[in-house]
Formats: sequence, structure tokens, C-alpha cells
Amino acid sequence: MAANNVSLCLGKESDVIVVGAGPAGLSLARALAPSGLSITVVEKQELATLAQPPFDGREIALTHYSKELMQQLDMWGKVRADEIYPLRDAKVINGYSNYQLHFEQPTMARGKPASSLGFLISNHNIRRAAYEAVQPFNNVSFIAGHSIVNVKNEAANRIEATLDNGQILSGKLLIAADSRFSNTRRQLGISAQIHDFGRTVIVFRMRHTLSNQHTALECFHYGRTLALLPLEENLTNCVITINNEHADEILAMSPAQLAADITRQLKGKLGDMHLVSTIHHYPLVGVHANAFYARRSALIGDVAVGMHPVTAHGFNLGLSGVSILAKLINEAVRKGRDIGSQSLLAQYQRQHMPHTRILYHGTNAMVSLFTNDSPPARMMRSLVLRLSNNLPPVKKLISKQLTG
Ligand SMILES: Cc1cc2nc3c(=O)[nH]c(=O)nc-3n(C[C@H](O)[C@H](O)[C@H](O)COP(=O)(O)OP(=O)(O)OC[C@H]3O[C@@H](n4cnc5c(N)ncnc54)[C@H](O)[C@@H]3O)c2cc1C
Repeated sequence: MAANNVSLCLGKESDVIVVGAGPAGLSLARALAPSGLSITVVEKQELATLAQPPFDGREIALTHYSKELMQQLDMWGKVRADEIYPLRDAKVINGYSNYQLHFEQPTMARGKPASSLGFLISNHNIRRAAYEAVQPFNNVSFIAGHSIVNVKNEAANRIEATLDNGQILSGKLLIAADSRFSNTRRQLGISAQIHDFGRTVIVFRMRHTLSNQHTALECFHYGRTLALLPLEENLTNCVITINNEHADEILAMSPAQLAADITRQLKGKLGDMHLVSTIHHYPLVGVHANAFYARRSALIGDVAVGMHPVTAHGFNLGLSGVSILAKLINEAVRKGRDIGSQSLLAQYQRQHMPHTRILYHGTNAMVSLFTNDSPPARMMRSLVLRLSNNLPPVKKLISKQLTG
């Protein structure tokens, strides 16, 4: 860790203020860093946590496009090769039926030969890689262990942000990357559609005696869903989504009870199972901001669109937003233009939002159907899987979304 780019200062001017050093905020800081802009990243967690983020149970499915973006940002190579898990193919199951919608192993992705639908990398490894990727740049400084509590964007040329210790930061542009529950989005007066699914997602790793074949499995059982994300051949990340009122029953289970429960759900498909990680849980709340910018400010990552994880688009969309916005800002720097102009920020929204809206609403509609256990919905669920399996254009379209 370079110490010279860590500053705790009283009153600070920069070109860009980034609120939140999650994967999206750090990726944007890295994407802008070569332009020479002075960038201040504010993060409420301590610097030591950013440098060594703890395991948080999330395994992030990444598309081939996201891999390319992470390579460009010098993040991909910072994840150990044996901690990048190929996701060969994926199957979807409805209820207790044995019928499977199958997204086969591709031969091509983004015009190049490919042998996997995508890749899985643990969220903490992405965060660590993103933090390491900004370290060589002295124009990126961190204020860690403090939150932004207030934002003022009334002036024409500057935006101001106040920290919880009263310190005021000023910049030409402020980027909100402070999670789907963003306080900064609210401070900027940007409204959002917030959908509370009333469910909890519970994540943990299991080792098992039979191979997972590197195949992801999404089981839309009745009452709860179970997704299996293959890591090593005998190591799988399990993702349960369940109504909030039943989440505690799962969280109260002993490791042996949990292993027995998952084995039963899978009818022994992965053999004997045992828990090998801590268990983490997240509230299932989807968010789509109604605008991706305000005066001298823009939203990225989950602040702009916080997806239901079932279609694994969250950080993939975060990265594509980072790429779009960084290109526009870097171009403005090259041409000597204002990096916080309304026209630049409007262009970011025009290029990013059509895609996020479709995926956000499409995912929510799919979740509504596949968590509805009424008899007509069960029939519709089965029909949708069969149609998707048997209509090549539909299947191709979904596969393309998976590979990027
Ligand atoms: C169970 C689960 C599985 C997922 N699976 C996938 C997947 O397979 N594929 C995929 O693409 N995505 C997936 N996602 C989504 C992905 O994890 C998120 O899209 C991504 O982490 C969002 O990153 P972010 O940087 O926008 O926000 P966050 O990771 O939420 O980071 C926000 C940061 O801002 C900081 N912060 C907050 N408030 C302030 C403040 N006021 N001042 C300063 N700092 C602040 C926080 O401490 C935090 O570090 C999954 C999510 C979950 C929960």
C-alpha cells in the first residue's frame, strides 16, 4: 500500500470527489486516474479494510465484457488465477420438476473463442483488486473512516461535500457510489424506484463429494429459491432467497442442519455436503434511480441501479456505467472541456439508462413470476422455461446477456 496518496486534510479541493470506495467507486477512480485529474475518494470504512476486505459471502458472476473492462482497469490480473472460477454452463429448474432450461457452454463470446458463459470472483477479491489498481496513482487520494453527510450543488462551477467531522470538500464533479441505500442520491434530490422484495438472500460455501461440473443451477423451488454457483469442482457457493419471516429459521440452523437441508433440497445431487464458510445475509431491495445525474454530480454502481442478484447483472452494469462515464470524462479532459457539464452528464445517462431500465424491470418481472407459487403462476413458470428452451432467438438473447 502506498502511503503517499493517503491524506487526511482540512478543506480540500479536487477535480473529482468519489463517495464510496466499493467496487464501482474504485473502478471509476482507476478509470479516471490516467487523465491526471485530482481525485478524492471518501469511504466510511477504514483504509485497512479497503486494502484487505473480508470475505462477504458474495460470488460475483462476471461476463466476458466485464472481464475485458477489468483487464483494461488493471484489476483482472490482481486476482489470483485459482480464485477466478469459470462458469461453464447454467441450468434453471422450476418447482419440483426435473425439466431444465439449459444455457449450454458457449464456443464464442464477444467474437472470440470461449469455453465458459462467464466467471465467478468473490466480491472481496474484486474490492481488493480495485483498491490495489489505484495505488500507483498519486493523483488519487483517500479519506477513509469518514462518511459524506451533506452535499451542496447550488454553485454553477463547484460542488461541495461535507464529511461527518465537518471537513468540507469541493470539486468540479461529485460521483455518488455509496450503495443502493445511498444517502448522497437523496441529498442530490434524485428520486428512485425502490422495490423491497420482502425477501432475504443468504449466502455461504459448501464442500461436497460429487462434482458440480462447473454448472450453475438456479432452482426456483416453491417457497424459496436456491442458486448454486460452482467454484471448484467440489466447492459451491449456495444462495438461498426466502421470505423475510422464514430467513431466521435458516440462519438459526447449525452447520450440520444447514448441510442436511441443502442436500435434501438438491435430492443428494452433490453428494455429502458440509459448510466451509461463514454465512452472510442481505436484504433483497432493488433500486433504479430516476436520473443518473444532477448538477455537477453523477450516480454509478448500485446507486444508479441496484439489481436483484438472480440475473447476476449488478456489478456487470456497474462496470459498464463506469466505462461509459469515464470515456466521456477522459475525452472532456483531452479536449479541455468542463468535466462536470450538464451535456456530458446527460450523455452518460442517455448511453447507460436504456440498458439498465430493461434489465432492471425485466429481472423484477421474472422474479415476480418465479416467486409466485399460485397454480396459474406455476403453469406459466413451466411454460416460460419450455418456450425459452425451444425458441432459439429467445435463448440466444438470454445467453448473450449472460456472456455480455
Ligand atoms: C448476494 C449478492 C450476490 C450478488 N451477485 C452478483 C453477481 O453475480 N454479479 C453481479 O454483477 N453482481 C452481483 N451482486 C451485486 C454486486 O455485489 C453489487 O452490484 C456491487 O457490489 C455494487 O458495488 P458498489 O460499489 O456500487 O456498491 P457497494 O459495494 O455497496 O459499495 C458502496 C461503498 O460506499 C461506502 N459508503 C456508503 N455510504 C457512504 C458515505 N456516506 N460516505 C462514504 N462512504 C460511504 C460503503 O462503505 C461501501 O464501501 C450481488 C449482490 C449480492 C448482495
